[in-house]
Amino acid sequence: MTRTENYFIGNRHQVTFDISEAGEMITVIPKLFDRDLKYTFCPPKNYQPTDNICERSEIEWCSIIKESVRNGEIRKELGDKVLTSLERLPNLQDGQKVGVCFSGGKDSQAISILTRMKYPKESLFMMFADTKDEWPETYSFIPRFIRWLNISDFVTLDSMGIHKLLREHISCWPIAKRRHCTKNLKMLPMRDYLDEMEFGQVRLDQKPAKFRPSHTRHGSTINVTKPAPLLISGERHMEGLSRSNIPVEPERDELLLRMTARPVIEWSIKDIWEFLFWMKTPYNPVYHYVKRVACSGCPFAGDEEIYCLGKKHPNMLTEWAETERQIGSPRLGGVSFNVVLQELLSS
Ligand code: SF4
Repeated sequence: MTRTENYFIGNRHQVTFDISEAGEMITVIPKLFDRDLKYTFCPPKNYQPTDNICERSEIEWCSIIKESVRNGEIRKELGDKVLTSLERLPNLQDGQKVGVCFSGGKDSQAISILTRMKYPKESLFMMFADTKDEWPETYSFIPRFIRWLNISDFVTLDSMGIHKLLREHISCWPIAKRRHCTKNLKMLPMRDYLDEMEFGQVRLDQKPAKFRPSHTRHGSTINVTKPAPLLISGERHMEGLSRSNIPVEPERDELLLRMTARPVIEWSIKDIWEFLFWMKTPYNPVYHYVKRVACSGCPFAGDEEIYCLGKKHPNMLTEWAETERQIGSPRLGGVSFNVVLQELLSS
């Protein structure tokens, strides 16, 4: 009998012990992140997106992918990843829908396309949770991509917005382990929407989920008329340490209270962009200046991105400087918004 144990050494290495009667086998697996690849965003020369995604069945897509690998249009490794992702996405039960959690970034574009390849388009819906501080480029890109994807069931979920949240409700900066803004502006609005649409929840048998019937002030059990949907999310192991241990198989999301599949969990940034360019999809132009599509002044952004925000959209940087002033302490881990604003104003 073999027993396997996993340990982590520091941030970068996973150590696996296979302990059997024959002895011990130790495997050290280095963890690779996007930043190790030193990938630079670079669309192909004269890149021309198509008007729409081609309408094909999953079987047809699989044979096109195999053919493209044979022709050398895509790397074999990427072709294998696409095929594995499609195969791993679970089949739907009768009447079950699939909900894509969409942010307007490259990863959520890739999962939307994979979802479209796998499932009939009538079973799909997409949710975009608006933090009211997306880059203007993101707001203009989204309708273009949705048209390209040819999806009619797309919903924008409203929220109080990041500035109101940080100024009036939770007046402290989010940290990696406590992203209260993601929870309140993205996850809970999605859960409210799913509850309001009367989608069932996936409850734990032994420990009932303490779900928040959040669409009513005082709470009530939700009315269920539809099976719990399968949700699709774009997290990837290689984004960083906090995501490097997310399970590969679909799991129940503790906040959304539904099963979530992550089809690009094992993809790198290079895989994502090569796939999008191979699909000839339009992409969010904000990637020409920043690496990450998120709130424009996300406190986790690098200094360069905050300077870039100030140059491209000074009014948005001014809002962040005011939020920082009201919180009463500079953003964590980078140059403060007020310092950037003052430097840009004086230059
Ligand atoms: S993008 Fe940044 S600021 Fe916006 S919700 Fe996510 S963690 Fe919070």
